[in-house]
Amino acid sequence: MNSKAYYGEFGGQFVSESLMNTLEELDAAFEAAIKDPEFMEQYHYYLRQYVGRETPLYFAERLSEKYKTKIYLKREDLNHTGAHKINNVMGQILLARRMGKTKVIAETGAGQHGVATATGAALFGMECTIYMGKEDMQRQRLNVMRMEMLGASVVSVESGSNTLKDATNEAIRAWAKTAEDTFYIIGSAVGPYPYPKMVKEFQSVISREAKIQHKKAEGKNPDAVIACVGGGSNSIGMFADFIDEKDVELIGVEAAGCGISSGKHASAMALGEPGVLHGMKSYLLQDTDGNIQLAHSISAGLDYPGVGPEHAYLRDSGRAKYVSITDTEAMDALLELCKLEGIIPAIESAHAIAYAMKKAEEMTETQSMIICLSGRGDKDVNTIADYLDGKGYLN
Ligand SMILES: *Cc1c(COP(=O)(O)O)cnc(C)c1O
Repeated sequence: MNSKAYYGEFGGQFVSESLMNTLEELDAAFEAAIKDPEFMEQYHYYLRQYVGRETPLYFAERLSEKYKTKIYLKREDLNHTGAHKINNVMGQILLARRMGKTKVIAETGAGQHGVATATGAALFGMECTIYMGKEDMQRQRLNVMRMEMLGASVVSVESGSNTLKDATNEAIRAWAKTAEDTFYIIGSAVGPYPYPKMVKEFQSVISREAKIQHKKAEGKNPDAVIACVGGGSNSIGMFADFIDEKDVELIGVEAAGCGISSGKHASAMALGEPGVLHGMKSYLLQDTDGNIQLAHSISAGLDYPGVGPEHAYLRDSGRAKYVSITDTEAMDALLELCKLEGIIPAIESAHAIAYAMKKAEEMTETQSMIICLSGRGDKDVNTIADYLDGKGYLN
């Protein structure tokens, strides 16, 4: 296997023999596409006219005043479908068309990536199948409904824990049988190479815009950028253009659930060990026998037992730092952003906000940070209501 498939010791292509050729074709098609100005023009056309980019870099005035440092929010919540996931879907679906594929498949946990994929498939008239754990289908009925309205078929996966990990395994299996006419759209910076690279490319628009916007506002780079980490796509997009700017601190925020010592969390960087899942080697939550453990977070989008391989590398090389925020801390931050700025963030994004509030303590009034506001919280209103009722929170 070629060494470019690796980030240090992480990444790779841990898939069945029958998929190796498919991944190689995909990599070649992707590299050709992003060097083709016509393809990139098309991608940016849809980002502009359909997704609604560029998104604002909003100076959060009241939050900054309270926490005594300059806080900017990169407003990915204002994208069509309400989160950053559509940036990646647009790129991959245009690539699928360019490769002559007529069908797309995807995995989804909370349903956000499923909705974004179903949206793109409807836009381009492609047949769309979404794999989703049976348990997740029950928990996320509204998103199942959305996907069906958009014309996708949602396949209920009944194996293992009936959640995202199992849906992903099923999608990979289905793809191995249908790759001739089918493109697999992976929703985060995970999976076998070249997926982590492709997802980073299509999400890096976040930091490309934010860097220019921040320079315009402050005349310099931010001191820190902060993003939540599920599989790691909004965070790698937020980091991308700052990785070579050594004076910018990069901070990824994982979900600590009920606390990382409770055993009910999703902090693969804090407590995971290197292992193989979903075609990649990375940090994973595992028991002592190497079995993948169930992740827990109040936020469905962070509820993943692993993390993308480039993040594992950025952590070990010391370039980025990874921290954890509990359910309670995230919910407090969410409610505070509602009241101070009139913005209801996704619970995922609230993890980044909660850590930013801690980080602000060591920053001065003239320093600045950018928080990636990965999505809006409308999808989370039921979870928030349950939480406020004192229920949802131990589930
Ligand atoms: C899916 C999702 C995430 C987590 O996924 P990443 O790939 O880590 O970005 C974060 N925020 C929102 C709003 C999401 O929908």
